[in-house]
Amino acid sequence: MRFNWSTILGVTLIVATLTCAVLVGRRRGRCGLRRAGEEREMAAHPPERRILVVEDEPAIASFVRRGLIFEGFAVQAIDNGRDALQSIRDNPPDLLVLDLMLPQVDGIELTRRIRAAEAAEGRRQLPILMLTARDSIQDRITGLDAGGDDYLVKPFNFDELLARIRALLRRTTIAATENGEVLHFADVSVDLGARTVVRDGRGLQLTPREFDLLALFLRHPNQVLTRSTLMQRVWGEDFFGESNVLEVVVGNLRRALEAADEPRLIQTVRGVGYVLRES
Ligand code: CA
Repeated sequence: MRFNWSTILGVTLIVATLTCAVLVGRRRGRCGLRRAGEEREMAAHPPERRILVVEDEPAIASFVRRGLIFEGFAVQAIDNGRDALQSIRDNPPDLLVLDLMLPQVDGIELTRRIRAAEAAEGRRQLPILMLTARDSIQDRITGLDAGGDDYLVKPFNFDELLARIRALLRRTTIAATENGEVLHFADVSVDLGARTVVRDGRGLQLTPREFDLLALFLRHPNQVLTRSTLMQRVWGEDFFGESNVLEVVVGNLRRALEAADEPRLIQTVRGVGYVLRES
């Protein structure tokens, strides 16, 4: 049976739009149906995780790009393998969404070159999510063997793409943690490997949530993090609602950080979220 690609795409877009319309009642902030206040909240902080989308089908590239921007990512789209390789060398993203059938350098070859360069230079591996219309078992094996981290077959559901991106980004964060990175801000040091926190020579006892939240702030100093960003990063992708759990954890974290009357570092940005900043 032959599929007309534009028909498949059209049906996918219609289904996605209808799904979003149904979901918007229970999950706010999806699919461009945000309310005005939420748009302001999005604009109040710069996008954080950078995603490069390499896709030569303009409609798909635009659909994915716009969807990811609405989810708060910084997104660049490139339509060929050669320019993508150059862009990754010059300005490596946090994650690559990669179509396999591309002009010039195809996705499999691009992945092999990226992995070879990383191995040669001892760099951390860029998470790669492959997108393709090819769905045979052998194509999946080839993609993953070349160095892809995950694989999604077109036509795909945008929410599934988003869930896979988040899962890959979480894994990357865990890998960085295992490398024993130490973050510093003012007189605070957070050792991600040992999971210890020291402020001005004083060791702090934190719960896992408090620790994760503090580490997130130290990764984004002087940058306003919205409530929804913090909730998603620390509690997972589907934690929406009016719960005050974030306020409680921030309160506990402040008490631990300020136990010896030190100045406040986690500042409230009314109506938006919080920022790690020296007062
Ligand atoms: Ca293609």
